[in-house]
Amino acid sequence: MKQRLLFLGPPGAGKGTQASLLCQKQGLLHLSTGDLLRAEVDAGTKLGLEASEIMNSGGLVSDSLVLSIVEKRLIGHNQGWLLDGFPRTLLQALALEVLLEKIKQPIEAVLLIELDDQLLLERLLARGRADDNEEVIRHRLEVYKEKTSPLIDHYKTHGLLKSIKGDGDVEQIAGLIEENLS
Ligand code: AMP
Repeated sequence: MKQRLLFLGPPGAGKGTQASLLCQKQGLLHLSTGDLLRAEVDAGTKLGLEASEIMNSGGLVSDSLVLSIVEKRLIGHNQGWLLDGFPRTLLQALALEVLLEKIKQPIEAVLLIELDDQLLLERLLARGRADDNEEVIRHRLEVYKEKTSPLIDHYKTHGLLKSIKGDGDVEQIAGLIEENLS
């Protein structure tokens, strides 16, 4: 099983659920920038205050802010990791590559989880998080298409991309993911 992973895909595709399961099973560090940002917001830190308005509108918080969160957790961690919800822009991806080169821990695989827009919308509406109302969801999907989906080609070009469809039950998808990453 590969040890340094990245999950890519639109909001609502099931990245977070599948990332948690896989990390528990394989003993990997689960680095979800969304979770880390929400924790900062809940703790009322300066960083959280900076991020919360943008998160609630469905936009992306600044690359530098997200990079600082990821960097301090990856440096010195040598037991394998899974990045979930990061990178989300080409600039984040390039900065990540520089960092990983520096710490000599290249990405081993990128897994894309895809799902149709209608299903994404239904799933996100059912989830009911603060940033899950219809208008915000539509904006998040647009932001994904515009800013994040170019990463698909980027990782394809680097020969790292595997992709699966995210519709099915949780165990079935988990099995598919393990097959793709073994
Ligand atoms: P998520 O839980 O991954 O859906 O992230 C929730 C929100 O946190 C997103 O809508 C963004 O506002 C923000 N966020 C999470 N990860 C990133 C990232 N890598 N770059 C910029 N913003 C992010």
